[in-house]
Amino acid sequence: MSDSIKSKCRLCGSEKSFVKYTIENSEIRRCSDCTLMWLNPMPTDEDLEKVYSKNYYENKELASDDAQKTYGYSDYLSEKLYKQIGFQKIVKQIKSMLQANDQELSLLELGCGLGFFLDVAQDAGFAVEGTEFNKYAVKWIANKYRFPVSSKKLDVFEDQSYDAICMMDVIEHLRDPFDVINESHRVLRNGGILTFTTMECDSFISRLLGERLEDIRKIHEHLFFFTKRSIKKSLKQAGFAVEKIHYTGHTFSCGDLVERIAAMVPLIGRPCLHLVNFFHLRNLKLYVNPRTKVTVYARKI
Ligand SMILES: [Zn+2]
Repeated sequence: MSDSIKSKCRLCGSEKSFVKYTIENSEIRRCSDCTLMWLNPMPTDEDLEKVYSKNYYENKELASDDAQKTYGYSDYLSEKLYKQIGFQKIVKQIKSMLQANDQELSLLELGCGLGFFLDVAQDAGFAVEGTEFNKYAVKWIANKYRFPVSSKKLDVFEDQSYDAICMMDVIEHLRDPFDVINESHRVLRNGGILTFTTMECDSFISRLLGERLEDIRKIHEHLFFFTKRSIKKSLKQAGFAVEKIHYTGHTFSCGDLVERIAAMVPLIGRPCLHLVNFFHLRNLKLYVNPRTKVTVYARKI
């Protein structure tokens, strides 16, 4: 493949791009026209199969400074409670935007992981269904929850069959996020809501930390990186109206938070880690919004 084809922007077709970050043997390129960023070269399907395994949810070496080990979560199950606090706000927002009469609303989550978001959406009254690429996760959910989860691709779902489609920290993992946005438009009912969360690359902290950011260093799984501008362009092109886009924080345990900071900025993080351990503060709950991630709500028009 020639360099010009390799570096052609998938969102706007521009051939003008430059290397924004270099991490080990990978580069992250940025489109000079629409700001979309992407990993180059992209991993093979075999590489991705290896990453999305049971180990994805229990990667004890995540908070190391080695990008080869920066994938997945250190202990995803222990983050359930904290993640669900954030998901409750998102589900509430989607529900308020859909204005249901007495009918049950339906919600499809793409890349549902271990089902934490679907669990919250079901509790809020949605009829839920999930898809997930990680086979370990599909089996895990089948043993734990009653809602349907499969490895189905979006193209097998019927036209206009869902009120809401959601992707929580998923769009950056997709080989073709723009196909998935287009397909979501087809599968949503008129007036339905597409919601997703993803890293935002142009905020102050994102630009300050750059390639130190865990989200940027996940070169084994993060294939695309968005800015507010490229998000809006992707959605408008597919026929959505962007209704809300805002920076979203996350509730962390103090121990988890300082370990992540120590991996990104050791000079600050390591002394903090000693203090947190010394004062037994590891389990303290903290809400932090560094404005590195956005939640997007778009309506099918
Ligand atoms: Zn572009």
